[in-house]
Amino acid sequence: SGISLTVYKETDSTNTRLRELATEGAPEGTAVIAGMQTGGKGRLGRKFFSPSDTGLYMSILLRPEMTAADAVRITTAAAVAVADAVEKISGRKADIKWVNDVYIDGRKICGILTEAAFSLENGGLDYAVCGIGINVYEPEGGFPEDIKDIAGAVLDTPADDVRNRLAALVLENFMGYYHKLSENSFLQGYQSRLMWRGEDINLIRGSEITPAKLIDADEKCRLLVKYEDGTEDTISSGEISIRKR
Ligand code: ATP
Repeated sequence: SGISLTVYKETDSTNTRLRELATEGAPEGTAVIAGMQTGGKGRLGRKFFSPSDTGLYMSILLRPEMTAADAVRITTAAAVAVADAVEKISGRKADIKWVNDVYIDGRKICGILTEAAFSLENGGLDYAVCGIGINVYEPEGGFPEDIKDIAGAVLDTPADDVRNRLAALVLENFMGYYHKLSENSFLQGYQSRLMWRGEDINLIRGSEITPAKLIDADEKCRLLVKYEDGTEDTISSGEISIRKR
């Protein structure tokens, strides 16, 4: 099955737009790309800064037959697809911060938000919309104050047709991983790029902060950690930060 693409100059959120199309019965592989988003979304109600001309904002509709727990892997496969694509385009190494943020040189160049809808009939997954926002270039005037220390871009200088090439590469890589999700084809690319692997981190869950060593990620994209008392654990939600020495 192929990809059917709709390109908008501007939309509120490519995820929101695509969820509307999903409700109208759009098939798996339907994708929306926008030149800018007026209401770009991040996880947990956060905002994704989505200016025109310098970014790539796209969402892909999936209708997988899998459990909600397995759907986490869609999001991490997308991170690997983006990492592959931006490395190819830029020649720079990309890292993945658990769970699914893509970084270059310590700066976040991509955010991914997967939203799932469940069927009321059987409680199974009805569809998932995987949204990917990439800072291709730094916007004129720089990133806004609140993210200027975090955000970065794939390229420093404009190059020919980059956004189209990047979009095509991400879609192609992603559908490749998606169709081989059960074989964990994305896992090696995920583990090898996992930021802070082998390092001392802080696990942040609510107001609780626990020091631990980050060992690896497993096939369910859980984090394997070792606490200071030597016990190991697998973590499936929360946030991490590096521990300053
Ligand atoms: P975090 O990056 O803190 O782990 P997250 O994975 O929940 O959070 P996203 O949902 O990907 O983040 O995006 C929202 C967050 O990303 C915002 O709170 C902001 O800190 C940051 N952000 C927003 N817009 C951009 C952007 N264009 N480039 C990089 N980072 C951004």
